[in-house]
Amino acid sequence: MNEFSLIDTYFKNISPADENIVVGIGDDAACLSIPVDMELLISTDTLVEGIHFMKEWSPADIAYRSLAVNVSDIVAMGAEPKWVTLALTLPTMEHTWLQQFSHGFRDTLQQFQIALIGGDVTKGSLVITIGIYGLVKKGKAVKRSKAKEGDGIFVTGELGGAAFAVDALTGQSHINDGYMKKLLHPQPRLDFIPILQQFASAAIDISDGLEADLHHILDASGVGAFIALEKMPLYQDSALHFALNGGDDYELCFTVPQNNIHDMLNLVAKKHLQCTNIGVVTQEKGLRAKYLDGQIVLLEGKGYVHF
Ligand code: ADP
Ligand code: MG
Repeated sequence: MNEFSLIDTYFKNISPADENIVVGIGDDAACLSIPVDMELLISTDTLVEGIHFMKEWSPADIAYRSLAVNVSDIVAMGAEPKWVTLALTLPTMEHTWLQQFSHGFRDTLQQFQIALIGGDVTKGSLVITIGIYGLVKKGKAVKRSKAKEGDGIFVTGELGGAAFAVDALTGQSHINDGYMKKLLHPQPRLDFIPILQQFASAAIDISDGLEADLHHILDASGVGAFIALEKMPLYQDSALHFALNGGDDYELCFTVPQNNIHDMLNLVAKKHLQCTNIGVVTQEKGLRAKYLDGQIVLLEGKGYVHF
């Protein structure tokens, strides 16, 4: 099998139908029709074996994760993910692996209602690069830079589950399936897109731990924050430091102007979603956190850094 039959076999017909695709897989470039009242969002994330996923993971789990982390970036802008490209670097052309990867990829495209529109195949160590394209109504993208003094700071869902799982696996301890699901199947918060669009002043997805990611909002917005750590929604028995400094949760952190909070919480309740107010944006720079014993500590915002 050469790379052209590989593409035909595993990637050509695995996407949900989409009338905005003028040209899909098979030409020199994909061609998309963008509605006149929309803006296009573009993002890329690479997953490297041994760093972002392990050799032992099932190909379907690797496919899911590579799409989920990319979807999360588009969602964090309050936008709808629409299309992806897949640049796949493979050590060998292994039929079983590719088949399982392709099935996992297809199921995930279906779940998120996005289409694969192109890509590349090369030989080398296993690396997966996804490019993702999303749409949002003109002027409605939610940026990191618009948090204002007095805005409430919210996080979706529960934090720390994925990092707790990584830690337990490293220490060879047993953990329940819930934690493994948090690690292998993070759920990008597509359900919060309308809430961000309507009410948020700034937003980010939590990929490197809340401390680092909240810092990105504060730095971009030129503000500080005060958070009360007793309010942190922890996943099961996870600990605060996993939520603050462990990555991979893919929940959202967002800020909401005080006069929007009431309506935002009503809509969240109506949709049976979960978000928690953990603090407030301050004019004074820096991230201050009140610990359970009342001590107030300045958090520097480390999180996971590659270099
Ligand atoms: P070119 O040589 O013109 O760059 P390629 O031979 O790399 O094109 O790819 C042929 C077609 O197949 C292109 O439309 C490309 O986007 C698509 N394609 C290549 N690899 C993948 C992949 N892994 N998944 C989906 N589409 C792919
Ligand atoms: Mg070409």
